[in-house]
Amino acid sequence: MLTVSLEEFRAALAAQGLDARHVAVRCPICGTVQSPQDLIDAGAGRDYASVRRFFAFSCVGRWTGAGNHRHGWPPGRGCMWTLGGMLPIHTYEVVTPSGVVYPTFEPATPAEAQAHHARRQKTGSGLALPAKRLAHARPRVTPHTRSPAPVAPATLTSSRG
Ligand SMILES: [Zn+2]
Repeated sequence: MLTVSLEEFRAALAAQGLDARHVAVRCPICGTVQSPQDLIDAGAGRDYASVRRFFAFSCVGRWTGAGNHRHGWPPGRGCMWTLGGMLPIHTYEVVTPSGVVYPTFEPATPAEAQAHHARRQKTGSGLALPAKRLAHARPRVTPHTRSPAPVAPATLTSSRG
């Protein structure tokens, strides 16, 4: 378990050198590196302001129909994981100045975030295994079976973007 301050968490994202929409974290379950823009692309919200509450909290796979992660699958497709679920599985947490602890996805390294952003500029998607390709490989979750994703505390991300 890695516990950092809110300041350290924001510094780790800032160190990636990217716009707020493109900073990246890694899902603790499937290992997929993902940004707020990935959430927008997946339909979690129409702009940064509406997806920042999911960022670093619910995996982008919740909106792409990725389904549950299976052991041995490579990262890149996303999964159904959210830190708001029943199982307290996480490896990273942020402590606010008032002492409240929030489980959070761990920031990607600057190199990972840059590679993620470069992939977006080249292919139109930051995900290593875009949902379009995934749709042919696995059955999709139909819209009526989706449940609303839990919401991350608004204090974790800045409102810039
Ligand atoms: Zn995931």
